[in-house]
Amino acid sequence: MYAAKAAGRNRVHVFHPDLRTAAERRATLAGELRDALVRDELVLHYQPVLHLASGRCTGVEALVRWQHPERGLLAPAEFLPIAETHDLMTPLSRWVLTAATRQIAAWRRQGLDTVVGVNISADQFAGGTLVDDVLSALAAAGVPPEQLVIELTETSVAEDPEGAARQMAELRRRGVEVSIDDFGSGFSSLGQLVTLPAGILKIDRSLVNYTEGHRDRAAAAIAAVVALGQACGIRSLAEGVETEGQLALAVELGCSFAQGFHISRPLPADAVPGWIAAQHASAVPAAVAH
Ligand code: C2E
Ligand code: MG
Ligand code: MG
Repeated sequence: MYAAKAAGRNRVHVFHPDLRTAAERRATLAGELRDALVRDELVLHYQPVLHLASGRCTGVEALVRWQHPERGLLAPAEFLPIAETHDLMTPLSRWVLTAATRQIAAWRRQGLDTVVGVNISADQFAGGTLVDDVLSALAAAGVPPEQLVIELTETSVAEDPEGAARQMAELRRRGVEVSIDDFGSGFSSLGQLVTLPAGILKIDRSLVNYTEGHRDRAAAAIAAVVALGQACGIRSLAEGVETEGQLALAVELGCSFAQGFHISRPLPADAVPGWIAAQHASAVPAAVAH
């Protein structure tokens, strides 16, 4: 049934023993993930975000990983889908919020004031507890709201755009910035830009990370998104910057921020202060950036 649903619903899928093996594997992993949440096997890595006008790294994005006792460090794609189908997204997102705000507090004690982006799941949004969860995590860690950015995808706001807009507006009133993640992938309704009270638009890497020979088309698409954002008072961030050329394009087209392997891969928490110190020492402002 799940295989038929995954293939697009309303379909027939012939049973094969491999399907049972896959289902059993998912069930085992779901049980292990439930335990992992209480055993603290999840870890956050942090990917630097470059503020283009100053040339300085002013923030990082928290990205969850699972330090599995036998299978090593697992990427989100290997366990988030299981969390979604086994009611584990809400506890997982709460764990991430708590861990990220504690990390902000720990860095503050070391003299590092960096903004941290946290990805939020559709469940947490739909549950209506997002604002409370965010505010209590900030209060418990003793961190100012200006140091947190909440990242949402269009799928997480799709079910109830009005409810989403209300919660986003409330977060921003409280000083927490909100960004729309992966804009330009999926359907990316332009109406979102008009109605959602976001402060940052993260342009999906499928636009930024153009293939050779497609620079002009990519540039036109990015320029259009940046201009739309500007008209709505939203700053843009180019995601998935992998080359010097892509970084130059982000600057040229007026993006405010850039993030990607060319700047840095996601780093373990203890590597972040040193990386930022070294980056600040050699920072070069980009003249054309906004
Ligand atoms: P995202 O929020 O769009 O995060 C960016 C993803 O792109 C990260 O993958 C990052 O490692 C990868 N990336 C960054 N720069 C580049 C680049 O230059 N090239 C390429 N090819 N990839 C790049 P990661 O860590 O595997 O995360 C994948 C997705 O999983 C995230 O996409 C986000 O949607 C989700 N995710 C990660 N952590 C969390 C979390 O704590 N909570 C929730 N709800 N979702 C999360
Ligand atoms: Mg994100
Ligand atoms: Mg993204």
